[in-house]
Amino acid sequence: MPEPRKRSRSKRRRFIKTPGAKVTIHYREKKHKKPICSICKQELHGVPPLKQSEIKKIPKSRRRPNRPFGGNVCHQCLQRNLKSEIRGMP
Ligand SMILES: [Zn+2]
Repeated sequence: MPEPRKRSRSKRRRFIKTPGAKVTIHYREKKHKKPICSICKQELHGVPPLKQSEIKKIPKSRRRPNRPFGGNVCHQCLQRNLKSEIRGMP
């Protein structure tokens, strides 16, 4: 019986043949989606595609860009929206 956390079907299973000709299951993590901009849906740079528990282990400066809405919105969208907000245009 696998560990309780590995019984989930959300883990990828890999059937591996051992030297003794037994077939064992190896469990693999699913690949994580790359973070995307919430406006234009483009891939965000400077944001690692890690699990939340792994992100907590790295320094805060490596988690997301240090600017307003960093890690949620890309720099082009932020610049465009801030300019339109300041100029009072929709
Ligand atoms: Zn964007």
